[in-house]
Amino acid sequence: MEDCIFCRIAAGDIPAQVVYQDDDVVAFRDTNPQAPVHVLVIPREHVPGPLALGDDYAALAGKLVAAAAQVARQEDIADTGYRLVMNEGRQAQQSVFHVHLHVLGGRAMHWPPG
Ligand code: AMP
Repeated sequence: MEDCIFCRIAAGDIPAQVVYQDDDVVAFRDTNPQAPVHVLVIPREHVPGPLALGDDYAALAGKLVAAAAQVARQEDIADTGYRLVMNEGRQAQQSVFHVHLHVLGGRAMHWPPG
């Protein structure tokens, strides 16, 4: 989608600190990091959010999680642990409507989340 910032990052039209990419997904550093490691994993295909990741997208959803594990190993947070977050909609404060998996690590996390 032309007016989608994450589509433009995936296409290489907008610069981003890409840490991993393959045919299906791109992972890049969040510009407003909430932890020492904060990477976003997105599909190259435009999907608006997790609510749209139905059965047709089961394989793609798995690829997002697998790419997050790869990022965690690369970023050296696999052993200490990390948190995956996907926000859907207004109350969850989703702000970019191209589905993305937050990979957060490098510090102790709190529960419940805010
Ligand atoms: P969410 O609130 O779940 O929709 O998260 C969107 C995330 O995208 C936020 O953490 C933003 O800091 C991040 N973000 C927005 N624009 C960019 C960008 N151009 N490059 C990297 N991260 C971005």
